[in-house]
Amino acid sequence: MSQVWLIGRPVAHSLSPAMHNAAFAKLGLPHRYEAKETADDQLAGTIDRLRRDDVLGANVTIPHKESVLRLLDEVDDEARRIGAVNTIVSRGARLIGYNTDKYGFEKALETQPRRAPWHVGFPFTQDAILILGAGGAARACALSLLEHGNNVDIANRDPARAEALARSIEVDGRHPEGVQWPRGRMFVDAVVNATPLGLNGEDVLEDAVLPMWVIDLVPTAEETPLVKRAKATDNVTVVDGLSMLLHQAARSFELWTGVPAPLEAMRAALPRSV
Ligand code: NDP
Repeated sequence: MSQVWLIGRPVAHSLSPAMHNAAFAKLGLPHRYEAKETADDQLAGTIDRLRRDDVLGANVTIPHKESVLRLLDEVDDEARRIGAVNTIVSRGARLIGYNTDKYGFEKALETQPRRAPWHVGFPFTQDAILILGAGGAARACALSLLEHGNNVDIANRDPARAEALARSIEVDGRHPEGVQWPRGRMFVDAVVNATPLGLNGEDVLEDAVLPMWVIDLVPTAEETPLVKRAKATDNVTVVDGLSMLLHQAARSFELWTGVPAPLEAMRAALPRSV
């Protein structure tokens, strides 16, 4: 039996073990996915233990996605551009870092049924998109949206961090722009919540009128207030964080095992349908 670990803090309520263990069971693979609560000062030791023969690799989550890069033997190009690793593959004693969040984000948007016929295409092109948050997830989304030719704004609680993120990302000479947190009418086509706001029942956009696409990355058992409000608003297409979670997990599964992920078995292990 081989193991795959989830390294982060907190990880107790993660939905990833249920999804990956359902996938291993579906394919009859003798592997086990286990959450390992890991404090900052335990990170280097835990990463080193991934070099054991009976470990296939790991997922890395908050708060270690960025700090883990320096502990790996190799980091794939896309993960390096994003500046964050969420998946590690152990190849013998070598540890290779990948980022599957960007793939998960794009796949969730591509596969989401549209609520209005004019919501065509994704990953959008030449649309105006506002990202809330300036952490690792915001960075993966901003890169994807810029690569697809969109105009990207970034608003963050700490505006200096939004400005720094905007300056550090560039695609064909284009950068995102740091902007104020939105209130009232937003003059954008889509908004992406890349903060944890919503986990504890708060509406991250309580003072704003919703645009035609609402993408909430927060992956929770219960729908967030933003997702609930968007679903109750005519003609708004909503992408739920659980959908991104599913697709990033499928890609990670394929990196560890080398076989196609059983997507429906993984979807069925989620607490609600997406
Ligand atoms: P980071 O810790 O790197 O960044 C968190 C961001 O959220 C920062 O911009 C921070 O602002 C902001 N933030 C945190 N708390 C608050 C608050 N109380 N009020 C306003 N802003 C706040 O996290 P990640 O970027 O990795 O993750 C962000 C979210 O995306 C999480 O909820 C995570 O679960 C989700 N996610 C979902 C995935 C999925 O598959 N569905 C994949 C990856 C992430 P500041 O800079 O001011 O501190």
